[in-house]
Amino acid sequence: MPTTSTARPMDGTGPARRITETASAAAADILRRTGTAPCLATVLVGDDPASVTYVRMKRSRCEKAGIRSRHVALPASVSTEALVETVTGLSQDPGVHGILLQHPVGPHIDERAAFEAIAPEKDVDGVTMHSFAAMGFGLPGFVSCTPGGIMRLLDEYGVDPAGKHAVVVGRSPILGRPAGMLLLQRDATVTYCHSRTTGLSSIMREADILLAAVGRPRFITGADIKPGAVVVDAGYNPGNVGDVDFDTARERAGLITPVPGGVGPMTIAVLLAQTVEAAARALGVG
Ligand code: NAP
Repeated sequence: MPTTSTARPMDGTGPARRITETASAAAADILRRTGTAPCLATVLVGDDPASVTYVRMKRSRCEKAGIRSRHVALPASVSTEALVETVTGLSQDPGVHGILLQHPVGPHIDERAAFEAIAPEKDVDGVTMHSFAAMGFGLPGFVSCTPGGIMRLLDEYGVDPAGKHAVVVGRSPILGRPAGMLLLQRDATVTYCHSRTTGLSSIMREADILLAAVGRPRFITGADIKPGAVVVDAGYNPGNVGDVDFDTARERAGLITPVPGGVGPMTIAVLLAQTVEAAARALGVG
């Protein structure tokens, strides 16, 4: 009888709690020393239910961690100019230390222009060209929160990317692309796959570290996974379903993130940590 092994789950909730506790203690220290609590401004365009939920969750986590949040809700019909003006105002406001512009902002808006209105020192979500270039060059700066959370999760489970073949499925500017850059920075050999990739399954089967960032429910199955691989599922699809078919994948993988409870909590924890770091620098106690 062939034996089947079952992957060890890479739980993100415990590490995220520890990162959040550290950020919360630092926020309290900043308040004690300066009389000012760190403040994250959230900007939401329209009322897409998923975006509304994400922003509400991020604000609630902030408040629990001693980070003030200032919320700006704009109608879906807002123009690029008006959105840029709002974000520029927050960039210039000394009472705001970090800015989160919830993506997506709607097809009629020049999202890049809106992101670029975020001052680099307040770009705690790591979405500006400045942050992206710093990630690319391996220089200090704020990282995209989900890729940053993924790297911390790998560290937490003792996964050293050096010399490993990392296959990143997805190349979006907020997720797949920066995640590949951070893996490369840690000396992985990185292959990017996307919707035009041919022979996707055979490429995925070569991965020591397989990162799913596709946005398609249960797109990657056990048959796509090299035995013993580290599988990181960043996907978050309606119904709390990841991009990886967990039940078949866990029979092949060595380590695997669950959905929910894997990458998701790490994303928010990195956002909080980076907001506190931005506040500490702005208030001269960093
Ligand atoms: P996105 O902008 O839609 O990008 C999806 C990527 O997947 C694109 O690069 C696309 O290729 C690629 N792709 C689509 N179909 C494919 C196929 N059949 N074969 C290979 N590649 C394919 O999505 P995203 O914003 O990166 O998000 C991806 C997923 O991560 C979503 O489920 C999202 O909810 C989740 N997410 C989770 C968090 C978190 O905190 N956990 C944060 C952000 C996003 P092309 O470039 O060729 O179109």
